[in-house]
Amino acid sequence: MVNETKRISPEEVSAQLDACKRVKELTEKIFPDSPPTYYIETFGCQQNEADSQRLAGICRLCGYVPADDIKAAKLILFNTCAIREHAEKKALSIIGETKHIREKDSRVIIGIGGCMVSQRARADKIKASNPYVAFTFDTGAIHAVPSLILGALKGEKRKFILSDNFGIAEGIPFYNDAPYKAWLSIMYGCNNFCSYCIVPYVRGRERSRRPEDILAEARLLIENGAKDITLLGQNVNSYGRDLEEDTSIASLMREICRLDGDFRLRFMTSHPKDASDELIAVMAEEEKIVKHFHLPVQSGSDRVLSAMNRKYTREKYLSIIDKIKSAMPDCSITSDIIVAFPGETEEEFADTLSLLEAVRYDMIFSFIYSPRNGTPAAEMDCRIDRAVANDRYSRLLALQDTVTAERNARFVGRTMKVLCEEVSKTDPGMMTGRGDTPRPVHFAGDSSLIGSFVNVKITKSDLFSISGEIV
Ligand code: SF4
Repeated sequence: MVNETKRISPEEVSAQLDACKRVKELTEKIFPDSPPTYYIETFGCQQNEADSQRLAGICRLCGYVPADDIKAAKLILFNTCAIREHAEKKALSIIGETKHIREKDSRVIIGIGGCMVSQRARADKIKASNPYVAFTFDTGAIHAVPSLILGALKGEKRKFILSDNFGIAEGIPFYNDAPYKAWLSIMYGCNNFCSYCIVPYVRGRERSRRPEDILAEARLLIENGAKDITLLGQNVNSYGRDLEEDTSIASLMREICRLDGDFRLRFMTSHPKDASDELIAVMAEEEKIVKHFHLPVQSGSDRVLSAMNRKYTREKYLSIIDKIKSAMPDCSITSDIIVAFPGETEEEFADTLSLLEAVRYDMIFSFIYSPRNGTPAAEMDCRIDRAVANDRYSRLLALQDTVTAERNARFVGRTMKVLCEEVSKTDPGMMTGRGDTPRPVHFAGDSSLIGSFVNVKITKSDLFSISGEIV
């Protein structure tokens, strides 16, 4: 297939990096006593977290240093989510509070990016109702943030960027305060148009980064201490289809595994229609790839799957699960489930429950259907009564809790290689890390272990975690 993906030119990226220098010079005059501070509030998914690392890289190159608190910041950036109405409301409420920060100090710059403001109606509303917001930028315009900050510092007109053709920009700096755990975006956007999902409308069509750019970034991450790298994309299984070269997620992962270093590799998220045999084989063969497959099913009913425009059947999905299990009998499998999709009958919901029993997921991320304006499902009749939806949701969780507890118990008695990530939030004498399971692993230790691999003998498991001792 011909490569039609728009690439932001190196000259344009270089002009933006130059704008960072000019911001720095200007802020040294505006804030003569100490460097100004930045604060980034991130909502939503891992892709937004990865995008926020780019924003942090830009802020630092512009001479800003991190603020402990939003109220102390001179540059406030919001990276918003549109996947659920709740996420938008929460973001709008916090954005509203920044009005007072700006009233106290007119040097404060407030900018909003992400999926919420990639929708014209939302961007227009913010333009009209939040005059203290200096700029908004859609998900394809992160590379343009330096010139937006520069324009705001110079008192130029407010700007609201909405692209009609998202591209890929290479060479934008990033900053990760936990470099041992890295996100690596390999593609952006989505072509699937699941009927409930806003993503294709706010992140554009699928576009893949070139393998050489991804490999160069992977090398840099490993040099900087990355021990756990997650390849990111809305549907990483279709990676490379828009590129001229013959590549795929499987061949890309194989190449990354060839890089020197003690690291492991994950990927998310996957679409079952594109989960290939080649991908399963590479996962099984490569030691560095974590044996965890997140394969969102959304529903166990063929009629609902068709109404969701998911492009696979229950039978097809279960056949992929069989292949994963036969190639990797101990693989952790997780999924996303939507409960009470418009028109879902009790029998159709029972199909989802029976699918859960058949697959025996390690964990699920489940949601009650929430309509998003602009998606086909939002126009569908037969909304499910809230009480019925809540009841189905509770039954789904109750079933999955039983399965999860059983799945977690299989690790007891085993020794697991765990990346120590942080001090436990509930017990300062305990550390939390991740192994080959989506569940956190707890063990006694101290902060000197953060960022290193330890072998943990698992002694206990419950619904939410597993724990053990370093051996
Ligand atoms: S695959 Fe479907 S659910 Fe996932 S981002 Fe694309 S449209 Fe949304």
